[in-house]
Amino acid sequence: MPQENMGDEVSSVTVVGGGDAGLLAALAVRSVNPGLDVRVVDDFAESPTRVGKSTFQAVVPLLHDVLDIDEGRFLQTVRPVWKGSAAANAYVMYPNMAYHLSIGRFNELLRELCGERDVALVDDRVTDVRTNDDDTYVERVAGEDAVYDADLYVDATGFKRLLMDRLDADYRSFDIPLDAAFHATADHDIEDTVPATVVESGEYGWFWQIDTYDHRDLGYVYSSEHVSDDEALAEFEAHREEVFADLERYEFDSGFYEDAWVGNCVATGNALGFIEPLQSTALTTHLNTSVRLSRQLAAHGHINDAGLRESFNRYVTGTWNSVYDFISVHYLFADAVNDFWADMRDIPTSDRIDQYLAYYDANGFELYDSEVVTEEGTQLGMLTFPTSSLYFLIRNMGAESTFYEEHDFSVSGEIKERWRQRNGYVKDLADQCLSYEQVYKSGVVDAYVRNESAFAQAAAPNPQS
Ligand SMILES: Cc1cc2nc3c(=O)[nH]c(=O)nc-3n(C[C@H](O)[C@H](O)[C@H](O)COP(=O)(O)OP(=O)(O)OC[C@H]3O[C@@H](n4cnc5c(N)ncnc54)[C@H](O)[C@@H]3O)c2cc1C
Repeated sequence: MPQENMGDEVSSVTVVGGGDAGLLAALAVRSVNPGLDVRVVDDFAESPTRVGKSTFQAVVPLLHDVLDIDEGRFLQTVRPVWKGSAAANAYVMYPNMAYHLSIGRFNELLRELCGERDVALVDDRVTDVRTNDDDTYVERVAGEDAVYDADLYVDATGFKRLLMDRLDADYRSFDIPLDAAFHATADHDIEDTVPATVVESGEYGWFWQIDTYDHRDLGYVYSSEHVSDDEALAEFEAHREEVFADLERYEFDSGFYEDAWVGNCVATGNALGFIEPLQSTALTTHLNTSVRLSRQLAAHGHINDAGLRESFNRYVTGTWNSVYDFISVHYLFADAVNDFWADMRDIPTSDRIDQYLAYYDANGFELYDSEVVTEEGTQLGMLTFPTSSLYFLIRNMGAESTFYEEHDFSVSGEIKERWRQRNGYVKDLADQCLSYEQVYKSGVVDAYVRNESAFAQAAAPNPQS
């Protein structure tokens, strides 16, 4: 049992919750800590969150390089849709394009990988979580079948937050009215796959469409303070032509645990935090944070002490502040067409965003993150998104810049022509590329995997020579 002084060595980790975030955390911990006992306890009868999973670019190297998930096997089993390719239904491989993940398929692959990598999967329902008198560490986690002792627990129980709820941990709520969502799936023909996360604004929030191999994933994120659930659902149904299946409603309190690691318990996934999903940040960010946890544990000799926890919690806070900043900029220049949009315009922005806006006004774009420093010399950089992408966002959302008003930045005919040619080239490329139907139904992926393994065998050193 963990001791209260918390300077103890961690030799066993129990992840409670086997949704995507929990399994990714277990695999991340395993990746650089081969000596640790790692297990995941999940009530496998209960399905993980079924919301469609759009990711952002960082997920690609995290999955394939850091977690060493073979790309060919990933294509065969998960059948992702590449997000942001050049044309509808075209498989155009740009490096590091993010994925749309099919509900269920990804989780299944992660379970298989756990089995192969010595991460025990235990099917049990956790029914008893006890903490010490101060609620600063977890004393006991028990399920219907067994008691689960561990030096470190990871709470990955989604919005239930079974362990974190029992601990004395600071939770920071974001002051943003969006707090509910309807989610549904619909059938679609693979030929109609849209390789982009489509977002459109509604009366009281925004709609999403995330096409995956198996179906079309649809949702409406809205503010329950401004519209009733019935009206929101009616607006959602009126917005789409498809017949909805698997309709579900989610409620959330946008925010995160500033004390993501308390005593002997770390949170991940929806148990750690959630913000309305406009930028598809959740899963990728959770994976990144789990990799951080894993590496910090290894580098710290697996000693769980206050210094390690503070360092990790600082990183988590920086990450979530970055995500909030990025999201908040989307609403700053919204048209205040009703009370909801007026309130969204007024959501608080951080000092960092105010400085970016002032900088953009005075100087226009700043493409080199490292050059944006405060008077104190500290960087304004964001942990999750490059600051350069923030400037594009600020501009595209409608920020004005005195710098561009006072200087002539009109685009020359020559540049416009080059841009036109470049777009034509990308379109031609897309026309020549395989459609999703061809990619997934023709056996191309299987052939690719066979060739890759044949190539790997041929390239391997020959022990006879
Ligand atoms: C409206 C909405 C839209 C979203 N869109 C995106 C998006 O586009 N991109 C993105 O990256 N993320 C998105 N998310 C977040 C997404 O849900 C999570 O990133 C992802 O599903 C990981 O969830 P999780 O593993 O933390 O929790 P869950 O998937 O809920 O998993 C929790 C697990 O805990 C287990 N469990 C619970 N109680 C017990 C118990 N008592 N005993 C044992 N096991 C238990 C459950 O069985 C389950 O497997 C969205 C979320 C919402 C609400």
